[in-house]
Amino acid sequence: MSYKAEYIWIDGTEPTARLRSKTKVLPDGAALPDWGFDGSSTNQAPGDNSDCVLKPVFSCPDPVRGGDHKLVLCEVYLVDGTPHPTNNRARLLPVAERFAVQDSWFGIEQEYTFFQAGRPLGFPETGFPAPQGPYYCGVGADEVFGREIVEKHMDACIEAGLAVSGINAEVMPGQWEFQIGPAGPVEVADHLWIARWLLYRIAEDFNVAATLDPKPAKGDWNGAGAHTNFSTKAMREGYDAIITACEALGGEGKVAEHIEGYGHGIADRLTGEHETAPFDVYTYGVSDRGASVRIPWQVEVDKQGYIEDRRPNANCDPYNVTRLLVGTCCAALEKAGQV
Ligand code: ADP
Ligand code: MN
Ligand code: MN
Ligand code: MN
Repeated sequence: MSYKAEYIWIDGTEPTARLRSKTKVLPDGAALPDWGFDGSSTNQAPGDNSDCVLKPVFSCPDPVRGGDHKLVLCEVYLVDGTPHPTNNRARLLPVAERFAVQDSWFGIEQEYTFFQAGRPLGFPETGFPAPQGPYYCGVGADEVFGREIVEKHMDACIEAGLAVSGINAEVMPGQWEFQIGPAGPVEVADHLWIARWLLYRIAEDFNVAATLDPKPAKGDWNGAGAHTNFSTKAMREGYDAIITACEALGGEGKVAEHIEGYGHGIADRLTGEHETAPFDVYTYGVSDRGASVRIPWQVEVDKQGYIEDRRPNANCDPYNVTRLLVGTCCAALEKAGQV
């Protein structure tokens, strides 16, 4: 017998990359070989020199096909053996390695929006639904849209062995969130990309499209983010390290550097309204959902724990987000001797 390996990769679409995948049928028990694809169809190569290489880096059971079938996340390489310029995972690896001793953990809250017939699921054909208020963590057919897909997706993530830690309905009809973590900087991003693929794939069977658009509906509706919860061993053991990390994120040049890597269109979402801080002003505070970085209430009580960077967009590349947080915070913690 054979098994099916779904090779999944991140393409070169500008300004926000998309997921692509194709299937390789392999003999039972066979290892996962490198593979190739036509980069000229994914904005990753010119037509006259179009071959790109897929290198499997993470695989898990395929909950959609079941059996011994697999999902296979790949990095994209050039034929000369160097990482493709769109390969942000390859940029993260040396940074994660450099600060591995600090044992950083991440929990990413992925918000997203279901669309059908060109409008958010639950929006009426003309006009708008009742204003936001009852939808967040709501229950009932007048408040909740798409739960069947959400439940299927959560089960699929669990079956695939991903570090999914929860789900909730969000503040706009058709808007939802799932969380991946806590997990290390590479692992959390690998799992998040696979979870995104599963979301699109499962919604497809319901004729629904999921989008990570950071501002899916104009007007008085919250955007969609990817709040990123972060800790190191020292932060999980003491409050000084929490403050060091918060201060480091406001350091010289750091605000612009992080915003740049937190997803396209971030200035449209971080307006200072709708539970956000303005994109160009850095603040942190306890329990403050209007700050760039929130120290959870319980963390201040316990004097240890983690911080929440509320700025990343839903459409961020998590490899960039974890690389920036590890690079900025772990360097500052090391300098302060808080490792
Ligand atoms: P919010 O209250 O902001 O909605 P969520 O419950 O949606 O927060 O998400 C919190 C995330 O933080 C979860 O994925 C959780 O696993 C993760 N988390 C918990 N503790 C830590 C920690 N010490 N370091 C990093 N992430 C953590
Ligand atoms: Mn949340
Ligand atoms: Mn949320
Ligand atoms: Mn949050």
